[in-house]
Amino acid sequence: MTNATSIASGNPSEEDRILDALVIGAGFAGLYQLYCLRERLGLSVQVLEAGAGVGGTWYWNRYPGARCDSESHSYCYSFSEELTREWQWSERYPGPAEILRYLNHVADRFDLKRDIRFNTRVTAAHYDQERNIWHVSTGSGDQLKARFLITAVGCLSSANVPKLPGLASFEGDWYHTGQWPHAGVDFSGKRVGQVGTGSTGIQAAPVIAETADHLTVFQRTANYSVPARNAPLTAEFQQYVKDNAAQIRELTRTNTNGHPFHISERLVSDTTPQERLALYEAAWERGGLQFRATFQDLLIDKTANDTAAQFIKNKIRSIVKDSATAAILADIDHPYAAKRPPIDTDYFETFNRDNVALVDLRATPIEEITPRGVRTSDKEYPLDIIVFATGFDAMTGPLLGIDIRGRNGLRLADAWQAGPRNYLGLQVAGFPNLFTITGPGSPSVLCNMPVAIEQHAEWITDCIAHMHNHDLQRIEPNPEAMDAWVEQVNAAADATLLPQATHSWYLGEHVPGKPRVFMPYAGGMLHYRRICDKVAANNYEGFELSK
Ligand SMILES: Cc1cc2nc3c(=O)[nH]c(=O)nc-3n(C[C@H](O)[C@H](O)[C@H](O)COP(=O)(O)OP(=O)(O)OC[C@H]3O[C@@H](n4cnc5c(N)ncnc54)[C@H](O)[C@@H]3O)c2cc1C
Repeated sequence: MTNATSIASGNPSEEDRILDALVIGAGFAGLYQLYCLRERLGLSVQVLEAGAGVGGTWYWNRYPGARCDSESHSYCYSFSEELTREWQWSERYPGPAEILRYLNHVADRFDLKRDIRFNTRVTAAHYDQERNIWHVSTGSGDQLKARFLITAVGCLSSANVPKLPGLASFEGDWYHTGQWPHAGVDFSGKRVGQVGTGSTGIQAAPVIAETADHLTVFQRTANYSVPARNAPLTAEFQQYVKDNAAQIRELTRTNTNGHPFHISERLVSDTTPQERLALYEAAWERGGLQFRATFQDLLIDKTANDTAAQFIKNKIRSIVKDSATAAILADIDHPYAAKRPPIDTDYFETFNRDNVALVDLRATPIEEITPRGVRTSDKEYPLDIIVFATGFDAMTGPLLGIDIRGRNGLRLADAWQAGPRNYLGLQVAGFPNLFTITGPGSPSVLCNMPVAIEQHAEWITDCIAHMHNHDLQRIEPNPEAMDAWVEQVNAAADATLLPQATHSWYLGEHVPGKPRVFMPYAGGMLHYRRICDKVAANNYEGFELSK
């Protein structure tokens, strides 16, 4: 439990004040961290946010077809019963507009915006060893100081635009899905090229195809996808969510992935081929990420995984009418769910439209962007608009985008030259009083993220309360604990099929020059939560706390 005593410091009107905490980012994580520190501990806190509003991911990703793929009744906070009771989701997987309404409602309900500075990008954060404070600089030249610095910068907030030769010469318009214009983009009458077929590209293509004159999808990596089966929530389901809020919360907090469903204990080898087919068919009809939960061993046993992979490949071949196109779409080179498993609304069906074409970039790679369009090794595709659904410099990108320097001027970029190293995904040795919410080395993107975010924000809050109660001013991990944790993160990944994916952003592979390291902790959210709780109960073992 979080300590509720106020530990506010200083006079807020002081000119050169030292805040108790600075939080970077006002998405799910930053909002809740602000709430915890201010409302539970009474700290002086300022949130700095690059965008003009709250929402993070949902502020930036307004591309056509954008939706969450966690189910709405779990893609939300669970810390306030009143909040859960008063909010009603309309769909199984809401889009940005509804999620933004929700996050604005949260920010207004708990009066959070008064402590958020919008349109403020943090450019640098330097630790002052003598005074034990962080000096934070912003793009507009402001300087702020705080005892604790907490990054809530998101895992997927640094857009990855591929460095294609000639892009600057393109005479049409181009967009990255993660920086989508708020006014929207009109595709009518346009020839559109979409580069990228991950979760985002799979959501966007069917919606773009509805209004574009023509859509060309450029595919480097073929991908699995399962129907989302999005639909308005029935009044019965909405009532079920209200009546069972406590049980749903308990379920999401006590399973391995933070989603509101049980993962079957059944092994693939426990079933006959006919039983398996029936189970996969039922999961396909139910739709969504639950497909992954059909068997316990899908992510750890390649033979088991092959059965799911084969099922989906057969579905692709049965949906897509043109057999050559189907073959390219089903030519998937990685185990099912070894990359973030997309869910879709009519993605494969989209390739049956007359105005949609698929280009296999493995056979004919993009050579350059020309003033007229995209030129592959085969030919030039004239285009009016290019949409880059090419994802993000995931997990480390937003952190390394800030000039973070710890003790003795140690740059985070140097400390992480060979890949991210930290303890519990929460702290890096040499960077005292810096916490990273859902940093690499924590379950983060392998979990339903609001659950991972709440766990981190609460752990950090408890830690700071503990420090106050014991008159401690400084915390950082000891290097041995950090090394041991990095080994655990690697071992957890190696026990699964996850590192077998190609071009996986979990491994940083799609960003040129990025070290190939499996970044999230794959040991499961429940196990991770227990480890974090045990560390705290054992007097924050592995951390050095000092006055
Ligand atoms: C299209 C899409 C769909 C997704 N769907 C799901 C889903 O269904 N389920 C799920 O669990 N997760 C999903 N995610 C992951 C999603 O990022 C998280 O669910 C969640 O929104 C993360 O919240 P956050 O606050 O940690 O980070 P974000 O929402 O990314 O917020 C980080 C904020 O930090 C700000 N920021 C970053 N750097 C700086 C800086 N230097 N200075 C100032 N501000 C800065 C950014 O502007 C941003 O507003 C999805 C992601 C994407 C891109």
